[in-house]
Amino acid sequence: MGQKTIVVGAGPVGALAALYAAQRGHEVEVYELRSDLRDPSTTPLNFTKSINLALSERGINAIKCSGRADLLESIIGETIPMRGRMIHGRDKSGELYEQGQDYDIHGRTLYAADRGGLNKILLDELESLPNVKFFFNHKLTGADFRKHTAWFEVTNKTTASQGRHKEIEVNFDFLIGADGAHSSTRYHLMKYTRMDYQQEYIDTLWCEFQITAKPVKSGQDENSRFSISQHHLHIWPGKEFMFIAIPSLDGSFTCTLFMPSSHFSALESNPSTLPTFFNTHFPGVTSLIPPKDLITSFTTNPHLPLLSIKCTPYHFLSSAVILGDAAHAMVPFYGQGMNAGLEDVRFLFSILDKHSSPNSDQETDTKVRATALAEYSEFRTRDAHAINDLALQNYVEMRASVVSPVYKGRKWLEEKLSVWVPSLGWATRYSRVSFGNERYSEVVERSDRQGRLLVGWVLGVLGLPVVVGAVGVWWRLRRGGRGWR
Ligand code: FAD
Repeated sequence: MGQKTIVVGAGPVGALAALYAAQRGHEVEVYELRSDLRDPSTTPLNFTKSINLALSERGINAIKCSGRADLLESIIGETIPMRGRMIHGRDKSGELYEQGQDYDIHGRTLYAADRGGLNKILLDELESLPNVKFFFNHKLTGADFRKHTAWFEVTNKTTASQGRHKEIEVNFDFLIGADGAHSSTRYHLMKYTRMDYQQEYIDTLWCEFQITAKPVKSGQDENSRFSISQHHLHIWPGKEFMFIAIPSLDGSFTCTLFMPSSHFSALESNPSTLPTFFNTHFPGVTSLIPPKDLITSFTTNPHLPLLSIKCTPYHFLSSAVILGDAAHAMVPFYGQGMNAGLEDVRFLFSILDKHSSPNSDQETDTKVRATALAEYSEFRTRDAHAINDLALQNYVEMRASVVSPVYKGRKWLEEKLSVWVPSLGWATRYSRVSFGNERYSEVVERSDRQGRLLVGWVLGVLGLPVVVGAVGVWWRLRRGGRGWR
């Protein structure tokens, strides 16, 4: 029998990790707190419907490297390419405007994906494998990582309604914890390893709204069901808050309001002022979402917090590792949370593969896995911390910098340099993060270096006339001085 790998959490990261393990011949068991999300009666945890998110190169590459032919094609087939941001606002004369900003001068795009839909495709793929078993309604409640044993509370509709729970004990060789930001695996891992842990709630809450699809009349183009461009991520920036809209295949848009908690409290006490608030700060939205629907979404949908988590190490000996949000939950402003989690899976397995050897016995496998997990923790920490920081910084960029001339100037110059002098290897930080697979920590180093060079050049160019002028004045004074003598 092959190595027994158990995966805790059947979200996108857990599902992909299970796929990688199954492809390597492990006996895989996936334990998930909720019921099967493919069952129509399952309500997504924390969300009203299911969030739309931006899938980009790192996530795509990790799915591609799973070794499952056609999987990526099925996933991309359910997405909409987004070529850039569409910034909405009101100009000085009070007119509404929208201004497109392509993400990438080379035409590369992000893909708007329904998170639940993507997750379902991964689960269907897993289901087709003979060495994978699912255990839904199983909640990790405890683990002894030295004895390779975990405990799960089992619920079903009958036991839950009667307030009864059953607990089961499961033995494993290797446990992968992909159980999200409030990870139970991480909590238990902390008792075994000296884990540094840092968590920060930012003072911003988020709430979901919907722009519904327009009815398509016979003979009309299918695309006419989208009220605004379907190939953009729409942003209504504001100094303190932001409203965004991401397209869905059915012609609707999932929208998110990000705002400090004090503003939420003020509006919660008087929701009827919401349309006026939107007209002031997010001009044009009330013509896309009727005021009545705005108020209903605001009063019925949850107002959820945003969490940023950094920790290290991610593993304990050969026994367990945490991936995805469990290891590095981040604020969503770089659109990288899931992408980084999927990338964790690719890096973890490439390091495990590098250390493994065929025909080794169980004892050797255990030693080798311990070495590989230590290497993974060491390798990934810098990158996870880097993207957590970038995600926090990008909140400022999305809600304010996108309209600043300095930001636009640097973007323009860097993009032109990447085209005019490709040998320089120049690229914007955004392209490096979203359209490449360079390590996040290296992206930060390279884009900081680029920034310093640009400042030097700009100062050089601006400073040249000043220096020439000063030399000229000095020369004239010298000559004049000579004459006076
Ligand atoms: P999760 O998706 O949280 O899945 C964890 C799973 O573990 C869940 O199914 C849960 O039920 C299960 N679980 C939890 N506890 C237990 C337990 N004790 N036992 C068993 N199972 C358990 N990312 C992007 O890449 N691009 C984006 O554009 C983007 N936009 C976002 C917008 C918003 C508003 C938010 C909030 C997030 C966004 N993200 C985005 C982040 C993305 O949603 C997460 O990074 C991603 O879902 C993490 O996947 P995961 O599998 O690690 O965790």
